[in-house]
Amino acid sequence: RTGARHGSRFRAASRRCRGRWPGLHRSRFMVALPFAELLRPELGELSPYSPHAGSYPVRLDANEAPTPFSATARARLAAVAAEVAFERYPDAALAELRRALAARSGVEPEAVIAGVGSDEIITVLLTALSTPRRGTDAPTVLTTTPTFVMYAMSARVRGQRVIEVPLDERWDLDETAFVAALREHRPGLAFIASPNNPTGNLMDRARLERAIAAAPDTLFVIDEAYIDYSARNQLDLYRRYGNAALLRTLSKIGLAALRVGWLVAHPDLVRELDKVRLPYNLPTLSQRLAVVATTELAEELALGTARVIAERERLAERLSRLPGVEVTPSQANFLWVGCERSAEAIFDG
Ligand SMILES: *Cc1c(COP(=O)(O)O)cnc(C)c1O
Repeated sequence: RTGARHGSRFRAASRRCRGRWPGLHRSRFMVALPFAELLRPELGELSPYSPHAGSYPVRLDANEAPTPFSATARARLAAVAAEVAFERYPDAALAELRRALAARSGVEPEAVIAGVGSDEIITVLLTALSTPRRGTDAPTVLTTTPTFVMYAMSARVRGQRVIEVPLDERWDLDETAFVAALREHRPGLAFIASPNNPTGNLMDRARLERAIAAAPDTLFVIDEAYIDYSARNQLDLYRRYGNAALLRTLSKIGLAALRVGWLVAHPDLVRELDKVRLPYNLPTLSQRLAVVATTELAEELALGTARVIAERERLAERLSRLPGVEVTPSQANFLWVGCERSAEAIFDG
């Protein structure tokens, strides 16, 4: 059940499982609301995202990373936090943060919009690109399955249509089926995680590029949440295709508490998305600490990811020696493991 940020959200979202935690869904407050008919019908089928509660020395279910920071680095972050002007609103333009994230991504600041995690950027995209195409009655979002569930969940709570194309037998993009779905459903947005969550692999570059080229009026969001653990990135696709954007985050490299994610996209699109973004979306603490972490402390961040990559290889090798265990090669900070016994039993164990 590693890579299970996907798993737990999927489970939480799945109607099939509702009966298993009845208390979660049938609270005594769920009496007939006088305005119930105004609620989106999709809400009746969804559940809030509820991560496994409790405190553990190691958590495997959220794809977090161990802290990369030394005591000195932590002291520096504490000093920066102590200097924050708590009486002021944060910088609405996110100027310093955008510069730092742009430099980290190798692009210009005008191509960057930052949010409360990439989760918020997903919602900003869905809100901004929500006009149904001519001849259709709802905006359509295309993605793969299995993948990160927030694309589908955030689209569904907005009443948007979600089409999911299964990955092929090697967990790669099924180009034929994906391009056919692009033609048939003409989505406004296509979300593709690469490396993918929960499978951990990169999508084949040529397949991805041909899909992007096949639908120039669909915005492709390539979710690179795990790119720091990957042998290559997809920046060239962003540079070559006006309809390709990259989604990135600090959450998976030891900074999940800050909730900082960003999109690299055409500056014209960024300007429009900025009208949807709430002006004070990112707290000053997150902005300042993210800037310091990604500039002054960048070397410690890099050492942290290198350590995780080394451990990933060691763990994958050892796990694959266990009978009945199949490990998919990972370009992320988690492993996608097939096993003969039920995942539930192994997780509980
Ligand atoms: C974890 C994850 C995210 C969410 O990132 P936040 O920046 O923490 O909101 C986005 N995409 C994928 C594929 C993820 O696994």
